[in-house]
Amino acid sequence: MDDIRATSDKRRIKTGAVLKIPAEVAVCPICGAAIYTDFDCWYLDEKEGRWQADSVNMDCETEPEDIESFEWQQWFAGHYSQPYIDWLPVEKRILEWINENYYFNLDGPEETDK
Ligand SMILES: [Zn+2]
Repeated sequence: MDDIRATSDKRRIKTGAVLKIPAEVAVCPICGAAIYTDFDCWYLDEKEGRWQADSVNMDCETEPEDIESFEWQQWFAGHYSQPYIDWLPVEKRILEWINENYYFNLDGPEETDK
């Protein structure tokens, strides 16, 4: 496996990209499952002239699909009883990792860089 810290060139990804966060970066703080991320907020890094994520939306892999269900309510209560304590440090770590390794294709044509 590649050492993620050794990557010097950032990869360009689409704004609609959904990334699975490598376990060595972060896992769900509640249940230890994988975290998936997507993005809806960016800022222009003046020095690099590249768009970087300003915030990150995180989803635990175990989230039940039906948000109307009792199962989901239980999941939510377990996962978000203390969001600032449980999720804030994870969000910070993931955002740092994202912006060290990726930048976003905000003003270019859609493309499918992997
Ligand atoms: Zn979880």
